[in-house]
Amino acid sequence: MAMSDSPTTDDTTSNTPFLKFPPTSPITIHPTPTSGRAVFTTRPLSPGTTLLHTPALPIDVILREYRREVCGWCFHYDEGRTLPIKRLLKEVGFVFCGEECAREWERDVGTLGREAWGVVEGFVRGGAGGKGWGNGGGGGGGKGNGNGRQNGSGSKKGVEIDGLDGSATEEDADGDVGIPDAEVPRPGEEEIAAAWRWGEMAREDIVAARDGSRVKSHSKTLNMVLGTRPDADVLSFLLSGVLCRARSSEVASMSEIPQEQETGNEGEGKEGDDERETKTTVQDGNQETVSTTNSSSSTATPTPTPTSPPSPPILSSSPWSTILALHPSQLPYPSSPILYTHILTFCHLLALLPPPLLPFLTKSTCLATINRDACNSFGIRSLDDGGDEFFGYGVWPDASYFNHSCEPAVGKERVGREWRFWCKGAVGEGEEVGISYLGGEERDLGLAERRERLWTGWGFWCACGKCVREEREEVEKNGSVEGVGSGGNSGGGTSGDTMEVD
Ligand SMILES: [Zn+2]
Ligand SMILES: [Zn+2]
Repeated sequence: MAMSDSPTTDDTTSNTPFLKFPPTSPITIHPTPTSGRAVFTTRPLSPGTTLLHTPALPIDVILREYRREVCGWCFHYDEGRTLPIKRLLKEVGFVFCGEECAREWERDVGTLGREAWGVVEGFVRGGAGGKGWGNGGGGGGGKGNGNGRQNGSGSKKGVEIDGLDGSATEEDADGDVGIPDAEVPRPGEEEIAAAWRWGEMAREDIVAARDGSRVKSHSKTLNMVLGTRPDADVLSFLLSGVLCRARSSEVASMSEIPQEQETGNEGEGKEGDDERETKTTVQDGNQETVSTTNSSSSTATPTPTPTSPPSPPILSSSPWSTILALHPSQLPYPSSPILYTHILTFCHLLALLPPPLLPFLTKSTCLATINRDACNSFGIRSLDDGGDEFFGYGVWPDASYFNHSCEPAVGKERVGREWRFWCKGAVGEGEEVGISYLGGEERDLGLAERRERLWTGWGFWCACGKCVREEREEVEKNGSVEGVGSGGNSGGGTSGDTMEVD
């Protein structure tokens, strides 16, 4: 999501290459003085004009509790019934609505990705010794309650590892809270850096132990990590990021890749080294590039747009670079327990993944995955019931440049793996067009509640046309406006969590 609404966020991404649309496209992306990058029209558009169809989805998570009910490829859902194609369920933990989706999934992840999902699934189900995790299993994932989510879920138990302070309180650790709690402070840059220092020390131990080191402290760390209950949803999330980076490696090494932004919580200038390390380790032959024309949906619902899809945007060179081109959140972890769960999950993956993937499993990968996700992910919800079920979330980079508006010019709909956007009414040339981040009944909220919801959930003070108009009307009527202190941001942009179905 294009934005520059947080006081701690200068527009460090302005030099990063981002999505370019072909000249014939009805929309284009420009930087704005106050709202980061935003989407503008290139010509006058009539109601119903298709703006963008985008199936490019480099990072996605289906929550553990929906893994038997939601197609692992197209997100089809059949009112909670287990889907018919179960041949990969035991191996990798996914079901599919049809054989075609199963094959698409296999093609997309490749041999190495399939192996990775396999070891992770085995660990979640059975623990290192295959004996299971006792009560509660390896789930631990939080279910969104209808209005966004925490970024990744927190382990219910917190993290119990010496040196990694995961002393979670019950409420902090509970991933069931949908709306981020404004009262609980997000971990600051220092806390994030300290946690990652621990993670990087653990990384050395774990990698050495897997290389056959006989040093006791190495095997001790490895065994400790393998003996600690995983959070299945954070595992899926970070693995998705690692696989995205791995499958992008060949493309990235041959062309320009946006350098990792040096944000405050991304450590001490190590990204450069990290990048080089990665580039020298190209492997695995599963470099499926993301296609913007490939839409395989078996849940086709009628599209409201009569026109054919516009030309797809010209993507950056690799899926990972489309992730890096997005705006990063400076403070992406919603709570301390979730931060520690992410560090522990990083260690779990270090202990589990096939060795060829380890060069891609770095602090830089994990941080880039969460801090891009934090500003840019869309919720994946049920389609037939108004979106009551929250299956998971994903980052569709092409779709992330739309800013928020409380009276959006753009309608949106997910069809299978694809998000579709269209003009709701007539729009003039050169106008910024936005989508609504508010879902369901949230859109009926009054000015104060609506702004407060956007502030706590997404971190910006809405100054869209509707908010400004209603504020003016209130001032004229009462002489003042109630709610959180106004000022600061001028519309658009988000630093919060999942964008919601309109
Ligand atoms: Zn499917
Ligand atoms: Zn507004």
